Amino acid sequence: MKRNFSLFCLLNFLAPVLLLAQNPKVDILEYEFHLKLNDENDVIKGNAIIDFQYNEDADVLELDFAAEENGKGMIIDSILQNGKQLKFQHSQEKLNINTSSEDEISIFYHGIPEDGLIISENKYGDRTFFGDNWPNRAHLWLPLIDHPSDKAKVSFYVTAPSKYQVVATGTLQEITNIDDENSLYVYATPLELPTKVMVIGVAEFAVQHLGEIAKIPLSSWVYPENKEAGFYDYAQAEEILQFFSEKIAPFPFTKLANVQSTTRYGGMENAGNIFYFENSVDGKRSSEFLLAHEIAHQWFGDSASEDDWSHLWLSEGFATYFTDLYAEHQYGKSKLDEKLQQERRQVIGFSQSTKTAVIDSSRTNLMELLNPNSYQKGAWILHMLRRKVGDENFWKTIQQYYQKYKFSNATSEDLKVEFEAVSGINLNQFFKQWLTQYGQPKIKLEYSYKNGKLKITVQQLQKNDFEFPIELQLNYATKDAEIIDFNITKKKETFEIETSEKPISIDLDPNTNLLFEEAL
Ligand SMILES: [Zn+2]
Repeated sequence: MKRNFSLFCLLNFLAPVLLLAQNPKVDILEYEFHLKLNDENDVIKGNAIIDFQYNEDADVLELDFAAEENGKGMIIDSILQNGKQLKFQHSQEKLNINTSSEDEISIFYHGIPEDGLIISENKYGDRTFFGDNWPNRAHLWLPLIDHPSDKAKVSFYVTAPSKYQVVATGTLQEITNIDDENSLYVYATPLELPTKVMVIGVAEFAVQHLGEIAKIPLSSWVYPENKEAGFYDYAQAEEILQFFSEKIAPFPFTKLANVQSTTRYGGMENAGNIFYFENSVDGKRSSEFLLAHEIAHQWFGDSASEDDWSHLWLSEGFATYFTDLYAEHQYGKSKLDEKLQQERRQVIGFSQSTKTAVIDSSRTNLMELLNPNSYQKGAWILHMLRRKVGDENFWKTIQQYYQKYKFSNATSEDLKVEFEAVSGINLNQFFKQWLTQYGQPKIKLEYSYKNGKLKITVQQLQKNDFEFPIELQLNYATKDAEIIDFNITKKKETFEIETSEKPISIDLDPNTNLLFEEAL
């Protein structure tokens, strides 16, 4: 997802979202969610049918599901298995169901979601319902295992007042007028997804079908008041979808709907139906890179997902760098450099206040992982990998990694294995220094010139050790600038080169290939 910068600090302060543990005892195979929405109040009625298996002998099925407290939260009406009532304990965030059988269970419940399904008015005062699950707020309205490592198939059966249209994860299978006032929409997918990206969106929409792009039906769903501007803005998805489909792999899902919504984020990469913040539509196409970020997530994050939150950069670093790659494709290398330089400034700024590594398992408030380490530093790591292995090997590795982990989960080590296999380069030091220690090289450059010899000293002032290639551009008064490069492996190294003229200046990293800070 992409942070909404105006809200980011406030949200971090107000709304911690706490870690829920992985549950290795159970594997959820499939969720079937039946939901009934109404306009009289914010109560939702649900029936979740869950197909699961135990990974070990067990007599309690433990799910994540927020219980009612102070009028908000979910109340269980009954839980059935093979027509028989099951006993359960439901309090706070946990629903424990007494059963040793692996037959599917059916949970009937109702309540007002405290969060997760946002029932509110949009900026035009119209009532809307939008799922907004990241990172683990799905269990505030759906009973499930709310961790990205337990992927499952999902279907949504949504009954809502007929004035609304419903978009949801999966392929649209049915629209039926139930009675004079309500309609049923059914969406389903046989693909395994993490719970963070399985949602519904229910609102009055203007919907534009843009036909098939790279064999995927593409559509734009915007508020009717924003129809003209929204259709214009979201049509940029055509070029983006085409680019990523060619470079990575075919699009993972059966449709791509770009949806204007009330998400708390700038954009949320829900699988096959991305939800963007309301003002992403302005008729000026200002959200092009936001679209690119969320569309890139469909491959990285939604399909090939991080195995645990500490590897979040496999989602956010990828989405950030693939946006940079799209920018390079669309506007040339100068745009790539501009974005990387901006990202580098963000990484350096963040490192001054927070001494944590990219792989960070210390966080209990997952919102804190939405930081420049996961996004911009993750992007820089991919950029430096690309420069290290070369473009051809980079894309080959990306394709290979994706093929191996699509609809599954990966760790940073899994990515390293793929890069090493394709390039034949040992990347132990690279992955260790960039992912498991904080900071970046802080470089001090000194040089002197005497008798046709230029002596250059490169000194690293930061605490941690880094090894990296560095390029220097020597600028001369009377001859063309030249670029030289060195491999830096020590905290202080001196190099000597012959040159007929004393440089008037030396630029560090002229091609924007290194994440570093310049000591002034
Ligand atoms: Zn993102």
